[in-house]
Order: sequence, then structure tokens, then C-alpha cells
Amino acid sequence: MNPTDGRGAAIRLDAVRKQFGDTVALHDITLDAAPGSLVVLLGPSGCGKSTLLRVLAGLEEATGGTVHLGGRDVTGLPPAARGISMVFQSYALFPHLTVAENILFGLRARKVARAERDARLARTAAMMGLDKLLERRPGQLSGGQQQRVALARAIVAEAPVCLMDEPLSNLDAKLRAEMRHEIRSLQQRLGLTMVYVTHDQVEAMSMADQVVLMRDGRIEQDATPAELYARPATAFAAGFIGTPPMALLRLEAGPGGACIAGAPEHAVAPAEAAGALLGLRPEDVAPTNGHGLPATVTSAEFLGAETVLRCAVGSEVVQARIPGHQVMTPGSPIRLRLPPPAHLFDHATGRRLPLPVHAPALA
Ligand code: ATP
Repeated sequence: MNPTDGRGAAIRLDAVRKQFGDTVALHDITLDAAPGSLVVLLGPSGCGKSTLLRVLAGLEEATGGTVHLGGRDVTGLPPAARGISMVFQSYALFPHLTVAENILFGLRARKVARAERDARLARTAAMMGLDKLLERRPGQLSGGQQQRVALARAIVAEAPVCLMDEPLSNLDAKLRAEMRHEIRSLQQRLGLTMVYVTHDQVEAMSMADQVVLMRDGRIEQDATPAELYARPATAFAAGFIGTPPMALLRLEAGPGGACIAGAPEHAVAPAEAAGALLGLRPEDVAPTNGHGLPATVTSAEFLGAETVLRCAVGSEVVQARIPGHQVMTPGSPIRLRLPPPAHLFDHATGRRLPLPVHAPALA
């Protein structure tokens, strides 16, 4: 395929299971990715992201289930026969080869004809801004340039599916942000289907068309970044997304409705919500004069454009993300304005609960 065709392949995993001895790393994973989309596999360490990517790549054999790429059943095929390219965290360029030789290494191994190799190298190097660096060796490049060479090595394969496992984790924060942007625009320009593994929710939210949030070898939620933010399906998903993430507060029955645990004077939700967890995004909470939920400031973290306040309410902690530099001494009393309750979760199962139909009682 010529990458400028802009046609990535559809991906379909059906009940994919992977067991290592007694450890079940993947429990019957089913998911679809549209051609040309960027899917992020997100989740904490050990949740099975890399294993899922390796099963997709053919580097691990699935214990059960099927993998289809571009409508073709590739479950039993080796990596080279699947139409994929890969970029890993340790991008392992060959130190004694030039940039050009590194980029072309795979094509040489696959005995692609010289004219074709040269044409692809010229196209890829121009696209990746590497044309002036082709004769250098990896030791003469910055970390970001080396990462770009690793990326070019994958792109030059012109495969319809590109798999990336934490490709930016060796880079500093600024470079990571730049490369994130670069990878996303490259993927869109080429129309590749990309599966990208990360444990960084900012990376996931900023790059993905589709986020597959994983936990303990299962899919917790498979949604667009906007859906994941607006309607987390579980308390786990709610607590994984956002900077800082949504606070989850235990609600108890109080005289006027459901109250934050340990603060019975102020109802924050209708009585039916007692016993549930209330999810509050810090960006939806604001200090207020006069009325509002009484709280005590425990810390104020200045981040430049905004300040994150942590406030004690009863036995729980409510966070507020507010614009500008707010100077607050720990121990100061404060009143907080909360949004109408929008996220409730079952305390035991963590599942999202429907909101009570009554008009909410507000702090
Ligand atoms: P990380 O972000 O730390 O890389 P991950 O989400 O990618 O984590 P995996 O590496 O896929 O997680 O591991 C999932 C589970 O499978 C873990 O419990 C891990 O210990 C186990 N596992 C992975 N590879 C093997 C293996 N080769 N042999 C035995 N167990 C394995």
C-alpha cells in the first residue's frame, strides 16, 4: 500500500484471551477499530495493554479468540505476514548504521528492490523532517530525533496498521508533548490505523479517536475521549481521567438529603443517593462567598494558569481547580459551590448509577 492512499485497515478482536500459566492476562477482549483511526489502549501497569498489543502483532499467540486485520483472519499468522509496523519504548537503533540505513533496515531484510527503497526513504525522510540527518549515526542525534528515526523506520514499511507501545516514555515532558502532536498528525495524514499503548491519560485524551481503558485484563470502558470524560462508566474510569481526576466522595443519609460523609449539615444530592459515591470534577467546583458547602483548605497548588485547592469536607477531600493564582493558607475556612450531581457510582460495584429523578438539593 502507498501511505498516501490514506487507507488504514479495520481491526477486529473477538473474545481474545491470553493466559500465562495460571495468570489470565486478557479475559475475552472484544473490540473494533475503524480504518484510519487512532485507538489508545490505556490503563495502569499490569492491566494487559502490552499483552493485547503483542497478540495483535503476532508476537504472542492468543490462548483463545480471533484477530482480524483489514477483514483478514490473521490469528495464526506470524508478525511479518500481518501488514503491521511497530514502534516500541526502547527503539533500539543500530548505533553503527546511519539514519538512512536504520530506516531502511527492515526493507533490506525483506529484499524490497533498491529503487523502491530509495523512493520510500526520500518520501519518509521528507515527511519526518529527517532529510538533512540521513548520513548521521544515532549517537549524533538528540533523543527526539532518534525517536523520529524509530518512527520513520515504522512508517517506511507502509503497512496499513501501526502498533506503538509507550513510544514516548523515554523523552522529557516537553518533547513528549511535541512528539504526541507529530505522531497524531502523521497518523491522520497517512490515514493509518494506529493502536497506541500508554498509561498516561493526557496522552490518551489528546491523541485518540477511541480510548480503550483496561483494568485487570478486561475492558473497563471503550469510548471516545469526550464520552469518557463526560460519562465515565465506572468509578475506576472516573478516577483515571482528568487533571486532577474526578474526586469520588462517599454520600451518607442526612436530615435534608444525601450528604458528604462526615458533613451531615449540608445535603449535596437527593436522599436516594445516600450510600453511593458522588463524582465531582475539580473544574466544576468553585469557591463562593456566603452560601455554599463549608470546607477547610488543606493545600493550594499553583500551576501557572490555575490553582488546585484541596479542601476537607467531613471525612472526604473535595478539590477545586480555579483560574489564576489563589493564595490560600492551609487551615482557612472556605465555602464551595458544587455543580448539580452529575456522576453517581455504586459504592460496592463501582458501576455508574442513574441520577435520582428529584430536583437535586444543592449545597
Ligand atoms: P505495563 O504498563 O507495566 O507495561 P501492561 O498493562 O502492559 O503493564 P502487561 O505487560 O500486558 O501489562 O501484563 C499483563 C499481565 O500479564 C501482568 O500480570 C503480567 O505480569 C503478565 N505477563 C505479561 N507477560 C508475561 C509473561 N511473558 N509471562 C507471564 N506473565 C506475563
